Amino acid sequence: MSTNQALFERAQRVIPGGVNSPVRAFRAVGGTPRFIARAHGAYMWDAEGRRYIDYIGSWGPMILGHGHPAVLEAVQKAATEGFSFGAPTEREIELAEAIITLVPSIEQVRLVSSGTEAAMSAIRLARGATGRAKLIKFEGCYHGHADALLVKAGSGLATFGHPTSAGVPPEVVQHTLVLEYNNVEQLERAFDEHGPSLACVMIEPIAGNMNFVRASLPFMRRLRELCTQHGALLVLDEVMTGFRVALGGAQSVYAGLIPGFRPDISVFGKVIGGGMPLAAFGTTRDIMKQLAPLGPVYQAGTLSGNPVATACGLATLREIAKPGFYEALAARTRSLVEGLGNAARDAGVPFVGDSEGGMFGFFFSDSLPQQYNAVMATDKDRFNRFFHGMLDAGVYLAPALYEAGFVSAAHTSDDIAATVTAARAALAS
Ligand SMILES: *Cc1c(COP(=O)(O)O)cnc(C)c1O
Repeated sequence: MSTNQALFERAQRVIPGGVNSPVRAFRAVGGTPRFIARAHGAYMWDAEGRRYIDYIGSWGPMILGHGHPAVLEAVQKAATEGFSFGAPTEREIELAEAIITLVPSIEQVRLVSSGTEAAMSAIRLARGATGRAKLIKFEGCYHGHADALLVKAGSGLATFGHPTSAGVPPEVVQHTLVLEYNNVEQLERAFDEHGPSLACVMIEPIAGNMNFVRASLPFMRRLRELCTQHGALLVLDEVMTGFRVALGGAQSVYAGLIPGFRPDISVFGKVIGGGMPLAAFGTTRDIMKQLAPLGPVYQAGTLSGNPVATACGLATLREIAKPGFYEALAARTRSLVEGLGNAARDAGVPFVGDSEGGMFGFFFSDSLPQQYNAVMATDKDRFNRFFHGMLDAGVYLAPALYEAGFVSAAHTSDDIAATVTAARAALAS
């Protein structure tokens, strides 16, 4: 038995499925998960000492690569000063100031510990601020595992959803409407029917939890208009895209294409913690004043704004704010997707890919899917064989066809070339 297999068996005795987050168990692709012993730069090493080029980067946070010297130094210094105080610190102000400077739609921010918590709190805030109950989410978007968000579409269009998890009573999701991503007509119908009772619409602007699907410009434009018209708040879940696709997040990308575009509430996680448990939600001062201790919407956290996590996040933000950072990252990411595309073309395999900043996706398909069902209809068997071929060759891609990939600033052109070489071999077989 290999070391990874032995660890997996041991893990399964004491941890459900052997993992602390389901996708790590490799259920979608089959096989044994690799137990990671350490990581540095663009690489991870498993418990057997095998090296992998890492295109997950902890599902997005490790935008600088693993163990960036400036981040490591900041974390080590912070740790010697104390792990947690349960009292305010100057570093929380610095991080809030940094976020506000980079994201013009935000005037105030609250720090929390996970994307789940940030999305859940953003919805409570939207409901509290509007005095309305209903919300819209889109099929294939993931906003963490708060009860009200574990929903799939109901049987009819513009009907309320069904829980996707046991343990979530139907009453808890009765206010959550689930619509098809990029479907303008459905969106209009939902607003026609429920407009006055909608607190918010929550969306991943570039959906990374169904691989990589951009909200189309007509869809995003109409969504913004309808929210404004009906007094519903537009909540952009930028937990994945924030500081990943651009320094100002996906909202800055859409603002460049739709004049005046901005969300009402933004949700961040992943990159802002640089690999530590840290997330945030923010909006205007006017909406934020609804939040405790100023207002009636309750929200709190023992470890919120944790001093070591904020040090890690701040050091990360300082590095990515340096001139030219995103241009270089985006070019490297594009070169990966192009290289994979060329390899697939030479092997006669249908392939499409897309990227923005340091986030990418690819499908074994002839055209880019626009919504969840189309993503799930792409060639899963081929993806799974490709995934394992790449893993065996030392390239660690996301272990499910519905997950995005991530390139870091530590990935060199040699790493990209080695990845494309591995892809050529995998696709040929
Ligand atoms: C990862 C993710 C979340 C959940 O964040 P956690 O820190 O895992 O709770 C929420 N929304 C999006 C878009 C995400 O990618």
